[in-house]
Amino acid sequence: MIVVMEPKATDEQIQATVKRVEELGLKANVIVGAERTVVAAIGEKREHFKESLESGEGVSAVVPIAAPYKMASREVRPEPSHVKVRDFVAGAGSVGFVAGPCSVENEEQILSTARAVKAAGATGLRGGAFKPRTSPYSFQGLKEDGLKMLAAARDETNLAVFTEVMSTEDVELVAKYADVLQIGARNMQNYRLLEAVGASGKPVLLKRGASSTMDEFLLAAEYILNEGNDQVMLCERGIRTFEGHTRFTLPLASVTYLHRKTHLPVIIDPSHGTGHTYMVPDMAVAACAAGADGIIVEVHPDPSKAMSDGYQSMTFDGFASTMKRCNAVIDALRAVDQEATS
Ligand code: PEP
Ligand code: MN
Repeated sequence: MIVVMEPKATDEQIQATVKRVEELGLKANVIVGAERTVVAAIGEKREHFKESLESGEGVSAVVPIAAPYKMASREVRPEPSHVKVRDFVAGAGSVGFVAGPCSVENEEQILSTARAVKAAGATGLRGGAFKPRTSPYSFQGLKEDGLKMLAAARDETNLAVFTEVMSTEDVELVAKYADVLQIGARNMQNYRLLEAVGASGKPVLLKRGASSTMDEFLLAAEYILNEGNDQVMLCERGIRTFEGHTRFTLPLASVTYLHRKTHLPVIIDPSHGTGHTYMVPDMAVAACAAGADGIIVEVHPDPSKAMSDGYQSMTFDGFASTMKRCNAVIDALRAVDQEATS
């Protein structure tokens, strides 16, 4: 249920509502909006709860939350949320660009990539140190050594470091070096891991499972939000279909759908979503045209020598020209939208 406070409700009245919600055995989450504050009451509801809360001072209405996900829902928080870490901002009108190799391979590789993507306008640096690989014989990542290289690149460039954490035991270690914890597609429904990154308090990039529905995706985000961590971004990275011309099928309609259902920022990954370098620039531009709050792409100094995912990685020049095209589309649409509202 959502307890909608009156626009002029006082702090005392809001606190009294929180107390009442907790007395009913529900979890209270206060969301301060532009016009009014709402208190989301999460938990199993009983018959008399609605009446009991409605009678509180400063309460305007008590309405049920129809969506199975509560904190992620637009019903609870109508305005879009955003995530800001260092110079990276995604959501509520800002588009964040994250770029870097699939895997951290060595100091020179990550440093040169960080410098190049920053010069092109990225505000986030990606790079896997713990790699979820389909085969146990493939390169598994440099682990803590890789994290240290990412941190060094961050110290020089101030880019926000995005890197994957694969298990609950590693959350503390990865959180020590990373700015944003990435949950990979394979772990989207690893609920203990979602709780652990939620409890870490670090911003999280949650990637969609390759065969997950939108409701499953949003309920996975709900696990993180339910730990009191509201710094969550959703990443559409493509789903598995019968189609073989791309590695995965990238549904850009996810941006529009998710924007309708949730306030959380939506990031598109056209690298994993297509699996072919030549497709990545156009899909990045298309994602920006669709209103994505950010793009995450794989960039490597020499994609032909990459230890993972080289076939879908862009060169430095490829990334720079993609950024220019993305920004041209974003600026053009902003101008049109501004004209329409002025
Ligand atoms: C990655 O970002 O390199 C990665 C492994 O992505 P995903 O979890 O989407 O497959
Ligand atoms: Mn990859």
